[in-house]
Amino acid sequence: MHIERRGLPLLAILLVVGAALAALAACAQERGPDAGWDDSSSAVILLYHHVSDETPRSTSVSPQRFREHLAHLEENAFNVWPLPRLLDALAGAEPIPPRTLAITFDDAYASVHDTAWPLLRARGWPFTVFVSTQYIDDRLASYMSWDQLREIEADGATLANHSRSHPSMAHPRPDESRREWLARMRAEIVDAQARLDAETRAPARLFAWPYGEYSPPVQALLEELGFIGLAQRSGAVGPASDFTALPRFPMAFGFDDLEQFALKVRTRPLPVLAVEPASGVLAADQSDAEIRFTLDDQAAIRIDAMNCFSRGRPIDIERVGDSPPRFRVSNVQPIGVGRTTFNCTAPASDANVWYWASFLWMRPRPDGSWYEG
Ligand SMILES: [Zn+2]
Repeated sequence: MHIERRGLPLLAILLVVGAALAALAACAQERGPDAGWDDSSSAVILLYHHVSDETPRSTSVSPQRFREHLAHLEENAFNVWPLPRLLDALAGAEPIPPRTLAITFDDAYASVHDTAWPLLRARGWPFTVFVSTQYIDDRLASYMSWDQLREIEADGATLANHSRSHPSMAHPRPDESRREWLARMRAEIVDAQARLDAETRAPARLFAWPYGEYSPPVQALLEELGFIGLAQRSGAVGPASDFTALPRFPMAFGFDDLEQFALKVRTRPLPVLAVEPASGVLAADQSDAEIRFTLDDQAAIRIDAMNCFSRGRPIDIERVGDSPPRFRVSNVQPIGVGRTTFNCTAPASDANVWYWASFLWMRPRPDGSWYEG
């Protein structure tokens, strides 16, 4: 599984934000592409894997759905930027126009070359592919070849690092010391970049965490190596985002219909100032988890209307402080083995868009061993 687990996705999300979705659709039609909001400091990054009807639903969107996504972006005058330009802009290099986003693909699957690229090329839109280099070196059938990667790079695609062998990186193996673990993780990043440097023209110094999993020690390692990190949990990006694990909206069956898509591409980052705990790695016996965070109190956000969800269902949120506003968010259902995300959303004061942040938990099996990616 590469994406957030499914709960009651569509029904639950629509119950909570249905009114906003309708308002969004109405706004898009009535007010034209330039109406709505003016925000020069935030954007959205989309994450796809396969674009195919033949591949696992949990990591795929259909070609038809992908066409619908691109048509929506085109009809609503979105600016599709190369990811490196977007990240430079977030760091202050240039203003970001309203409705700006970047499109990314993880794993370098063949369907990106065969199906997604022609549709993007027809619009002149850039995209980034995160490559696990061993899969390409092993010439696995469902992945692009180095020739195909060079072909899309020559056409304007950005290639970037997704590790050498796609391991879970957030924690050591049971038989491994902390030092051995961090040395192995360093090699995963450095070796993959060396293969990209050898085989392609200008790979970016960007790194997408395999399975979207990270923790403070490997985030510090990535920063030391001079990379920006990309996660795979929902939310928009802004200058205050954590550049070791920037959120990207995962697009896959069940999360990709046009109503959800229209909402997600219009989100802004919920301005979370301080989060505890720093690590999402849980203990084997830990089925309860609590996030505590402070929000930048901005007039544009209806903080009083913030809600949090996990697996499509509401979870507990408690305001525990003011100026700045402080919250405690905790699970309702026990947290199971594997990855679980908490998502928090709050409407904008103008009610046209949502502010969004998410938090990732990783829980090992009861015996302390780790689930397969
Ligand atoms: Zn991957």
